[in-house]
Amino acid sequence: MSHYLDHAATTPMRACAVEALASYSGLLNPGGQYASGREARRVLEESRERIAELLGADPIEVIFTASGTEADNLAIQGLYASSQNTRVVSSPLEHSAVRETIEHLPGAEVEFLPLDKGGHVADLRALDDPAALATSMWANNETGALQPVAEMAERAVASGTPFHIDAVQVVGKIPVDFHQLRATTLAASAHKFGGPRGVGILLARRSPAPSAVIFGGGQERGLRPGTSNVAGAAATAAALAEASVEMAAEAARLSALRDELREGILARIPRTEVHTVEPALPTHLFVSFPGAVGDSLIMLLDSAGVEASTGSACSQGVNRASRVLEAMGVSLESARGALRLTLGRTTTPEDIRAVLDVLPAVVERARVAGV
Ligand code: PLP
Repeated sequence: MSHYLDHAATTPMRACAVEALASYSGLLNPGGQYASGREARRVLEESRERIAELLGADPIEVIFTASGTEADNLAIQGLYASSQNTRVVSSPLEHSAVRETIEHLPGAEVEFLPLDKGGHVADLRALDDPAALATSMWANNETGALQPVAEMAERAVASGTPFHIDAVQVVGKIPVDFHQLRATTLAASAHKFGGPRGVGILLARRSPAPSAVIFGGGQERGLRPGTSNVAGAAATAAALAEASVEMAAEAARLSALRDELREGILARIPRTEVHTVEPALPTHLFVSFPGAVGDSLIMLLDSAGVEASTGSACSQGVNRASRVLEAMGVSLESARGALRLTLGRTTTPEDIRAVLDVLPAVVERARVAGV
C-alpha cells in the first residue's frame, strides 16, 4: 500500500461527495422550464446556497466553474476587461493559473510585491496606487505560506483597485469569510477539499464585477455560461460542508503530524533546508536536500511506496527548479533538490513513519546520483 503525501495536488474524494455525485448525476438540464428542469435547478440552487453560507458570501456571488484555473481566469481577465487602467499588482509566487493569465493580459504592466525570505509578501505599498486589479494567492501551493490577504484587500480596495484572491489551497482548510475579507473575487477548487475534480468556485461581488470573457447561454450570471454541472455542484457543497465541520480538529491533527515529519527529517537527514515558514497551512512541508535532484527523490520515493512531488510543475517532461524558491532567493542547488510533502484527511501517523523510514536512504542515493 502506498503512502500518499501529495494532498496539495489533489485529495481523495470524500464519501459524501461520491454519494452526491452518484445520486444527482441523473438530473437533467436546470435550464428546463418543466418539472425535471425545476428539480435540477432546486439541487443546483441549494448547493449554491450551502456554499455561499459556508464561505460568507451571498448565493448570487457564487459562480460554478469547471476548475480553479477557470475561476482565476474569469476573475482576472474579467476585472482587467472592465478597467481602463493597465496596471496590475501581483505576487511573484503565483500558481500558473494566475501567473500565465496575467502574462496574457493585453498591454498589462505588472508590478510584483516584494517578498521576505520565508515567502511572505513583505511590502504592500504597491497596493496603495490605483490599478486595474491586484491579485494574490492566499496560501502558496508549494510552501503553504499564508499571505496577509485581508490587509492586502483592504489596501487595494481603499485605492479603488479590485482585489482577487486565489484561495484554491485554502478553502476547506482554514475559515473563509468572503464579505469580511472585502475581496472583489475569490477562486476555489473542489478537488482540493474532497470534492470532485473539474469543479471550481468563483466568488464575485455584484460590484465591481468582472466583465464576461466567455460567451454563451448566460448561465452563472453570464460569467461562466454553459449547461451547469448539477451533480458536481452538489458534491462540492457536500464536501465543503464536511470539511468545514472537521476543519479545526483536522488543522490541529495535521499540524502535529507535519511538525513530527519536519523534526524527524531534520534529525535524520543532514543539510536539510526547510522552506515552509509560519504563518503557513498546517498541511504543507516543503524542504530541500542540496546535492540531490527533485526528480530522483520522487522516483526513488515512488519505488519505496511514498507518493510526493517536487512542488514545481514539469514542462514537457523536464522539471525546472521551483519559481517560488527562485522568488524567495533560494540557491539553485537547493531549489533543484526540493521535495513537497503535503498532508490531508487520509494521512495517518503510519504515513509519517513510512516517510521517515525511507527518506534518509532515498536522499543519500539521490545525492550520490547528484546531477
Ligand atoms: N491555484 C492554486 C494555488 C493551486 O494550487 C491550483 C492547483 O494546484 C490552482 C490554482 C488550479 O486549480 P485547478 O486544479 O482546479 O485548476
